[in-house]
Amino acid sequence: MTDPLPTGATIGILGGGQLGRMLSVAAARLGLRTHIYEPGSNPPAADVAHAVTTAPYDDVAALTAFAHSVDLVTFEFENIPTEALDIIEAITPIHPNRRALGTSQDRLVEKEFLRSIGLTVAPFAEITDAASLDAAIATVGTPAILKTRRFGYDGKGQARLKSPDDATEALADMADAPAVLEGFVDFSIEISIIAARNPQGQIACYDPGQNVHREGILHTTTVPAKLPASLRTDAVLLAAKILNTLDYVGVMGVELFVTPQGLIVNEIAPRVHNSGHWTQNGCAVDQFEQHIRAIAGWPLGDGGRHSDVVMENLIGADVDKVPALAKEPNCAIHLYGKVETKPGRKMGHVNRIKN
Ligand code: AMP
Repeated sequence: MTDPLPTGATIGILGGGQLGRMLSVAAARLGLRTHIYEPGSNPPAADVAHAVTTAPYDDVAALTAFAHSVDLVTFEFENIPTEALDIIEAITPIHPNRRALGTSQDRLVEKEFLRSIGLTVAPFAEITDAASLDAAIATVGTPAILKTRRFGYDGKGQARLKSPDDATEALADMADAPAVLEGFVDFSIEISIIAARNPQGQIACYDPGQNVHREGILHTTTVPAKLPASLRTDAVLLAAKILNTLDYVGVMGVELFVTPQGLIVNEIAPRVHNSGHWTQNGCAVDQFEQHIRAIAGWPLGDGGRHSDVVMENLIGADVDKVPALAKEPNCAIHLYGKVETKPGRKMGHVNRIKN
Protein backbone atom coordinates (compact mmCIF):
# COMPACT_ATOMS: atom_id res chain seq x y z
CA MET A 1 0.00 0.00 0.00
CA THR A 2 1.45 3.33 -1.02
CA ASP A 3 1.42 6.31 1.35
CA PRO A 4 -1.22 9.04 0.91
CA LEU A 5 -0.17 11.76 -1.55
CA PRO A 6 1.45 14.63 0.38
CA THR A 7 0.81 18.35 0.00
CA GLY A 8 2.36 19.69 -3.19
CA ALA A 9 2.09 16.39 -5.09
CA THR A 10 0.76 16.58 -8.65
CA ILE A 11 -2.13 14.64 -10.14
CA GLY A 12 -2.20 14.29 -13.92
CA ILE A 13 -5.65 14.51 -15.49
CA LEU A 14 -6.38 13.24 -19.00
CA GLY A 15 -8.97 15.62 -20.43
CA GLY A 16 -9.43 19.31 -19.71
CA GLY A 17 -13.21 19.75 -19.76
CA GLN A 18 -15.49 20.83 -16.94
CA LEU A 19 -14.89 17.63 -14.97
CA GLY A 20 -11.13 18.18 -15.11
CA ARG A 21 -11.75 21.77 -14.05
CA MET A 22 -13.81 20.84 -11.00
CA LEU A 23 -11.36 18.05 -10.09
CA SER A 24 -8.53 20.60 -10.24
CA VAL A 25 -10.34 22.98 -7.90
CA ALA A 26 -10.95 20.15 -5.45
CA ALA A 27 -7.31 19.05 -5.63
CA ALA A 28 -6.14 22.61 -4.97
CA ARG A 29 -8.38 22.77 -1.87
CA LEU A 30 -6.50 19.71 -0.56
CA GLY A 31 -3.11 21.31 -1.23
CA LEU A 32 -2.49 19.19 -4.35
CA ARG A 33 -1.68 20.30 -7.88
CA THR A 34 -3.04 19.14 -11.21
CA HIS A 35 -1.47 18.86 -14.63
CA ILE A 36 -3.99 18.68 -17.48
CA TYR A 37 -3.33 16.75 -20.70
CA GLU A 38 -5.70 17.89 -23.42
CA PRO A 39 -5.46 18.01 -27.23
CA GLY A 40 -7.77 21.05 -27.60
CA SER A 41 -6.69 24.62 -26.94
CA ASN A 42 -8.05 26.72 -24.04
CA PRO A 43 -9.78 23.87 -22.21
CA PRO A 44 -12.01 24.77 -19.22
CA ALA A 45 -9.57 23.12 -16.78
CA ALA A 46 -6.63 25.25 -17.91
CA ASP A 47 -7.89 28.25 -15.91
CA VAL A 48 -7.46 26.44 -12.60
CA ALA A 49 -4.66 23.88 -13.14
CA HIS A 50 -0.99 24.12 -12.19
CA ALA A 51 0.19 22.95 -15.61
CA VAL A 52 -1.30 22.13 -19.01
CA THR A 53 0.06 20.01 -21.84
CA THR A 54 -1.60 20.69 -25.19
CA ALA A 55 -0.90 17.64 -27.34
CA PRO A 56 -2.74 14.82 -29.09
CA TYR A 57 -3.13 11.37 -27.53
CA ASP A 58 -0.65 9.85 -30.02
CA ASP A 59 2.23 12.17 -29.10
CA VAL A 60 4.61 9.73 -27.41
CA ALA A 61 7.09 12.39 -26.29
CA ALA A 62 4.37 14.59 -24.77
CA LEU A 63 2.71 11.65 -23.00
CA THR A 64 6.07 10.48 -21.64
CA ALA A 65 6.99 13.95 -20.33
CA PHE A 66 3.50 14.35 -18.83
CA ALA A 67 3.70 11.00 -17.04
CA HIS A 68 7.14 11.84 -15.61
CA SER A 69 5.90 15.21 -14.32
CA VAL A 70 3.09 13.82 -12.12
CA ASP A 71 2.69 11.46 -9.15
CA LEU A 72 -0.28 9.60 -10.58
CA VAL A 73 -2.78 9.95 -13.42
CA THR A 74 -6.56 10.01 -13.53
CA PHE A 75 -9.02 10.90 -16.31
CA GLU A 76 -12.24 12.79 -16.84
CA PHE A 77 -13.58 10.78 -19.80
CA GLU A 78 -13.54 7.15 -20.90
CA ASN A 79 -12.51 7.21 -24.52
CA ILE A 80 -8.77 7.49 -24.08
CA PRO A 81 -6.77 5.49 -26.64
CA THR A 82 -5.24 2.32 -25.19
CA GLU A 83 -1.79 3.12 -26.60
CA ALA A 84 -1.71 6.41 -24.68
CA LEU A 85 -2.57 4.61 -21.47
CA ASP A 86 0.15 2.01 -22.11
CA ILE A 87 2.78 4.74 -22.38
CA ILE A 88 1.60 6.47 -19.20
CA GLU A 89 1.17 3.32 -17.15
CA ALA A 90 4.76 2.22 -17.81
CA ILE A 91 5.82 5.36 -15.91
CA THR A 92 3.17 6.18 -13.30
CA PRO A 93 -0.02 4.61 -11.83
CA ILE A 94 -3.44 5.26 -13.38
CA HIS A 95 -6.55 5.41 -11.16
CA PRO A 96 -9.22 4.11 -11.72
CA ASN A 97 -7.50 1.05 -13.16
CA ARG A 98 -7.34 -0.17 -16.74
CA ARG A 99 -9.84 -2.97 -16.16
CA ALA A 100 -12.51 -0.50 -15.06
CA LEU A 101 -11.76 1.73 -18.02
CA GLY A 102 -11.73 -1.14 -20.52
CA THR A 103 -15.01 -2.47 -19.15
CA SER A 104 -16.81 0.84 -19.45
CA GLN A 105 -15.37 1.68 -22.89
CA ASP A 106 -17.31 -1.12 -24.56
CA ARG A 107 -21.04 -1.56 -23.95
CA LEU A 108 -20.90 -5.27 -24.76
CA VAL A 109 -18.01 -5.97 -22.36
CA GLU A 110 -19.74 -3.78 -19.75
CA LYS A 111 -23.05 -5.63 -19.97
CA GLU A 112 -21.37 -9.04 -19.89
CA PHE A 113 -19.38 -7.97 -16.82
CA LEU A 114 -22.44 -6.64 -14.99
CA ARG A 115 -24.41 -9.80 -15.74
CA SER A 116 -21.46 -11.99 -14.65
CA ILE A 117 -21.57 -10.47 -11.16
CA GLY A 118 -25.28 -11.12 -10.82
CA LEU A 119 -26.67 -7.68 -11.67
CA THR A 120 -29.64 -7.14 -13.97
CA VAL A 121 -29.15 -5.40 -17.30
CA ALA A 122 -31.56 -4.90 -20.23
CA PRO A 123 -31.74 -7.88 -22.59
CA PHE A 124 -28.95 -7.41 -25.14
CA ALA A 125 -27.22 -8.97 -28.12
CA GLU A 126 -24.07 -8.26 -30.10
CA ILE A 127 -24.64 -6.80 -33.58
CA THR A 128 -22.13 -7.10 -36.38
CA ASP A 129 -24.34 -7.06 -39.49
CA ALA A 130 -27.92 -7.22 -40.79
CA ALA A 131 -28.23 -10.96 -40.10
CA SER A 132 -27.17 -10.62 -36.46
CA LEU A 133 -29.57 -7.70 -36.05
CA ASP A 134 -32.46 -9.79 -37.40
CA ALA A 135 -31.52 -12.61 -35.04
CA ALA A 136 -31.23 -10.18 -32.11
CA ILE A 137 -34.64 -8.65 -32.82
CA ALA A 138 -36.09 -12.16 -32.61
CA THR A 139 -34.63 -12.73 -29.12
CA VAL A 140 -34.51 -9.20 -27.60
CA GLY A 141 -37.77 -8.02 -29.23
CA THR A 142 -38.89 -4.46 -30.01
CA PRO A 143 -39.07 -1.68 -29.00
CA ALA A 144 -35.30 -1.71 -28.68
CA ILE A 145 -32.30 0.58 -28.94
CA LEU A 146 -29.29 -0.04 -31.14
CA LYS A 147 -26.14 1.48 -29.61
CA THR A 148 -22.55 1.60 -30.82
CA ARG A 149 -20.32 -0.49 -28.55
CA ARG A 150 -17.79 2.31 -28.17
CA PHE A 151 -17.62 6.12 -28.16
CA GLY A 152 -21.26 6.79 -27.28
CA TYR A 153 -22.17 9.57 -24.87
CA ASP A 154 -25.18 11.79 -24.13
CA GLY A 155 -27.40 9.58 -26.28
CA LYS A 156 -25.06 9.79 -29.30
CA GLY A 157 -24.47 6.67 -31.43
CA GLN A 158 -27.97 5.37 -30.71
CA ALA A 159 -30.98 4.51 -32.88
CA ARG A 160 -34.40 3.47 -31.65
CA LEU A 161 -36.36 0.63 -33.23
CA LYS A 162 -40.09 0.83 -32.67
CA SER A 163 -40.61 -2.31 -34.74
CA PRO A 164 -38.50 -4.75 -36.80
CA ASP A 165 -39.25 -2.53 -39.83
CA ASP A 166 -36.81 0.06 -38.44
CA ALA A 167 -33.85 -2.39 -38.57
CA THR A 168 -32.27 -1.27 -41.87
CA GLU A 169 -32.38 2.42 -41.01
CA ALA A 170 -31.07 1.85 -37.48
CA LEU A 171 -28.17 -0.23 -38.77
CA ALA A 172 -27.29 2.48 -41.30
CA ASP A 173 -27.12 4.98 -38.38
CA MET A 174 -24.35 2.87 -36.82
CA ALA A 175 -22.14 3.47 -39.91
CA ASP A 176 -20.65 -0.04 -39.69
CA ALA A 177 -19.50 0.44 -36.09
CA PRO A 178 -19.84 -2.69 -33.89
CA ALA A 179 -23.06 -2.34 -31.92
CA VAL A 180 -25.31 -3.81 -29.25
CA LEU A 181 -29.09 -4.18 -29.44
CA GLU A 182 -30.75 -3.42 -26.11
CA GLY A 183 -34.32 -4.22 -25.20
CA PHE A 184 -36.28 -1.08 -24.25
CA VAL A 185 -36.68 -0.91 -20.47
CA ASP A 186 -40.07 0.27 -19.28
CA PHE A 187 -38.76 2.23 -16.32
CA SER A 188 -40.66 4.46 -13.90
CA ILE A 189 -37.70 6.73 -13.18
CA GLU A 190 -33.96 6.93 -13.87
CA ILE A 191 -31.58 7.27 -10.97
CA SER A 192 -27.83 7.20 -10.52
CA ILE A 193 -25.62 6.43 -7.61
CA ILE A 194 -22.23 8.02 -7.16
CA ALA A 195 -19.88 5.75 -5.26
CA ALA A 196 -16.22 5.88 -4.27
CA ARG A 197 -13.58 3.39 -3.17
CA ASN A 198 -10.03 4.05 -1.97
CA PRO A 199 -6.98 1.75 -2.12
CA GLN A 200 -7.66 0.59 1.44
CA GLY A 201 -11.03 -0.78 0.22
CA GLN A 202 -13.13 1.80 2.06
CA ILE A 203 -16.38 2.55 0.19
CA ALA A 204 -18.70 5.56 0.43
CA CYS A 205 -21.88 6.24 -1.56
CA TYR A 206 -23.97 9.36 -1.99
CA ASP A 207 -27.75 9.26 -1.91
CA PRO A 208 -29.10 8.22 -5.33
CA GLY A 209 -30.24 11.14 -7.49
CA GLN A 210 -33.28 11.10 -9.77
CA ASN A 211 -32.35 12.06 -13.32
CA VAL A 212 -34.39 13.64 -16.10
CA HIS A 213 -32.93 13.75 -19.61
CA ARG A 214 -33.86 16.02 -22.50
CA GLU A 215 -32.82 15.01 -26.01
CA GLY A 216 -30.44 12.44 -24.56
CA ILE A 217 -28.66 14.97 -22.32
CA LEU A 218 -29.04 15.14 -18.54
CA HIS A 219 -31.36 18.02 -17.65
CA THR A 220 -31.90 17.74 -13.89
CA THR A 221 -30.83 15.60 -10.94
CA THR A 222 -33.06 15.74 -7.87
CA VAL A 223 -31.91 14.50 -4.46
CA PRO A 224 -33.40 12.69 -2.67
CA ALA A 225 -34.86 10.52 -5.44
CA LYS A 226 -38.44 9.29 -5.01
CA LEU A 227 -37.37 5.79 -4.11
CA PRO A 228 -38.38 3.19 -1.51
CA ALA A 229 -35.74 2.53 1.15
CA SER A 230 -35.23 -1.04 -0.10
CA LEU A 231 -34.17 0.18 -3.56
CA ARG A 232 -31.90 2.78 -1.99
CA THR A 233 -30.14 -0.08 -0.22
CA ASP A 234 -30.03 -2.14 -3.41
CA ALA A 235 -28.38 0.75 -5.25
CA VAL A 236 -25.67 1.02 -2.59
CA LEU A 237 -25.07 -2.73 -2.52
CA LEU A 238 -24.82 -3.10 -6.28
CA ALA A 239 -22.47 -0.12 -6.58
CA ALA A 240 -20.24 -1.60 -3.88
CA LYS A 241 -20.24 -4.94 -5.68
CA ILE A 242 -19.08 -3.29 -8.92
CA LEU A 243 -16.33 -1.32 -7.17
CA ASN A 244 -15.05 -4.28 -5.17
CA THR A 245 -15.05 -6.65 -8.14
CA LEU A 246 -13.07 -4.19 -10.24
CA ASP A 247 -10.70 -3.40 -7.31
CA TYR A 248 -11.70 0.14 -8.17
CA VAL A 249 -10.04 3.31 -6.86
CA GLY A 250 -11.85 6.60 -7.42
CA VAL A 251 -15.41 7.81 -7.96
CA MET A 252 -17.82 5.97 -10.25
CA GLY A 253 -21.28 6.91 -11.54
CA VAL A 254 -23.75 4.04 -11.95
CA GLU A 255 -26.87 4.82 -13.99
CA LEU A 256 -29.93 2.76 -13.09
CA PHE A 257 -33.47 2.24 -14.35
CA VAL A 258 -36.13 1.76 -11.66
CA THR A 259 -38.69 -0.87 -12.68
CA PRO A 260 -41.37 -2.87 -10.84
CA GLN A 261 -38.93 -5.79 -10.92
CA GLY A 262 -36.19 -3.73 -9.23
CA LEU A 263 -33.08 -1.91 -10.43
CA ILE A 264 -31.63 -2.46 -13.91
CA VAL A 265 -28.11 -1.17 -14.56
CA ASN A 266 -27.92 1.05 -17.65
CA GLU A 267 -24.24 1.93 -17.63
CA ILE A 268 -21.25 2.70 -15.47
CA ALA A 269 -18.94 5.70 -15.81
CA PRO A 270 -15.47 5.28 -14.26
CA ARG A 271 -15.20 8.93 -13.26
CA VAL A 272 -16.96 11.80 -11.60
CA HIS A 273 -20.39 12.15 -13.18
CA ASN A 274 -22.72 14.98 -14.22
CA SER A 275 -25.47 13.48 -12.04
CA GLY A 276 -23.14 13.90 -9.03
CA HIS A 277 -22.73 17.67 -9.37
CA TRP A 278 -25.43 18.20 -6.72
CA THR A 279 -22.92 17.01 -4.10
CA GLN A 280 -21.05 20.32 -4.45
CA ASN A 281 -23.80 22.04 -2.50
CA GLY A 282 -25.49 19.10 -0.78
CA CYS A 283 -22.55 17.47 0.98
CA ALA A 284 -19.53 18.47 3.05
CA VAL A 285 -17.27 16.43 0.77
CA ASP A 286 -18.40 16.58 -2.87
CA GLN A 287 -17.75 13.99 -5.58
CA PHE A 288 -14.71 15.88 -6.89
CA GLU A 289 -12.98 16.02 -3.51
CA GLN A 290 -14.03 12.41 -2.95
CA HIS A 291 -12.35 11.32 -6.19
CA ILE A 292 -9.16 13.18 -5.32
CA ARG A 293 -9.20 11.70 -1.80
CA ALA A 294 -9.70 8.19 -3.21
CA ILE A 295 -6.93 8.31 -5.81
CA ALA A 296 -4.60 10.11 -3.38
CA GLY A 297 -5.09 7.32 -0.84
CA TRP A 298 -6.76 9.56 1.73
CA PRO A 299 -9.70 8.51 3.95
CA LEU A 300 -13.01 9.08 2.15
CA GLY A 301 -15.75 11.50 3.15
CA ASP A 302 -18.74 9.51 4.38
CA GLY A 303 -21.11 10.59 1.59
CA GLY A 304 -23.52 12.24 4.03
CA ARG A 305 -25.97 14.81 2.64
CA HIS A 306 -26.83 17.99 4.55
CA SER A 307 -29.33 19.46 2.03
CA ASP A 308 -31.87 18.48 -0.57
CA VAL A 309 -30.71 19.72 -3.98
CA VAL A 310 -31.99 20.04 -7.53
CA MET A 311 -29.15 20.29 -10.03
CA GLU A 312 -30.02 21.78 -13.42
CA ASN A 313 -27.62 21.76 -16.35
CA LEU A 314 -27.14 24.95 -18.33
CA ILE A 315 -27.04 23.69 -21.91
CA GLY A 316 -26.25 25.98 -24.84
CA ALA A 317 -28.24 29.23 -24.63
CA ASP A 318 -29.41 28.36 -21.08
CA VAL A 319 -26.28 30.15 -20.00
CA ASP A 320 -27.98 33.43 -20.93
CA LYS A 321 -30.16 32.90 -17.84
CA VAL A 322 -27.19 33.41 -15.52
CA PRO A 323 -27.95 37.09 -14.66
CA ALA A 324 -31.46 36.05 -13.54
CA LEU A 325 -30.16 32.95 -11.74
CA ALA A 326 -27.69 35.11 -9.85
CA LYS A 327 -30.67 36.89 -8.24
CA GLU A 328 -32.29 33.64 -7.05
CA PRO A 329 -31.86 32.79 -3.38
CA ASN A 330 -30.19 29.45 -2.53
CA CYS A 331 -29.02 28.94 -6.08
CA ALA A 332 -25.33 28.09 -6.48
CA ILE A 333 -23.96 28.79 -9.96
CA HIS A 334 -21.16 26.72 -11.48
CA LEU A 335 -19.87 27.91 -14.87
CA TYR A 336 -17.25 26.14 -16.93
CA GLY A 337 -15.60 29.16 -18.54
CA LYS A 338 -16.39 28.01 -22.09
CA VAL A 339 -16.07 30.97 -24.42
CA GLU A 340 -18.22 29.64 -27.26
CA THR A 341 -21.87 28.72 -26.67
CA LYS A 342 -23.13 25.89 -28.91
CA PRO A 343 -26.47 24.07 -28.92
CA GLY A 344 -26.18 20.94 -26.78
CA ARG A 345 -22.94 22.13 -25.14
CA LYS A 346 -22.75 21.91 -21.35
CA MET A 347 -21.91 25.48 -20.29
CA GLY A 348 -22.49 25.15 -16.54
CA HIS A 349 -25.02 24.04 -13.96
CA VAL A 350 -26.88 25.37 -10.96
CA ASN A 351 -27.56 23.66 -7.65
CA ARG A 352 -30.77 24.85 -5.99
CA ILE A 353 -30.87 24.11 -2.28
CA LYS A 354 -34.35 22.95 -1.33
CA ASN A 355 -34.14 22.92 2.46
P1 AMP B 1 -27.20 5.94 -22.50
O1 AMP B 1 -26.33 6.73 -23.42
O2 AMP B 1 -27.07 4.47 -22.70
O3 AMP B 1 -27.06 6.36 -21.07
O4 AMP B 1 -28.70 6.33 -22.90
C1 AMP B 1 -29.19 7.66 -22.80
C2 AMP B 1 -30.63 7.64 -22.32
O5 AMP B 1 -31.45 6.89 -23.24
C3 AMP B 1 -30.84 6.95 -20.98
O6 AMP B 1 -30.57 7.81 -19.91
C4 AMP B 1 -32.32 6.56 -21.08
O7 AMP B 1 -33.15 7.69 -20.86
C5 AMP B 1 -32.46 6.15 -22.51
N1 AMP B 1 -32.18 4.71 -22.65
C6 AMP B 1 -30.98 4.15 -22.91
N2 AMP B 1 -31.07 2.81 -22.95
C7 AMP B 1 -32.36 2.49 -22.70
C8 AMP B 1 -33.10 1.26 -22.62
N3 AMP B 1 -32.50 0.06 -22.83
N4 AMP B 1 -34.42 1.33 -22.34
C9 AMP B 1 -35.02 2.53 -22.16
N5 AMP B 1 -34.40 3.72 -22.24
C10 AMP B 1 -33.08 3.72 -22.51
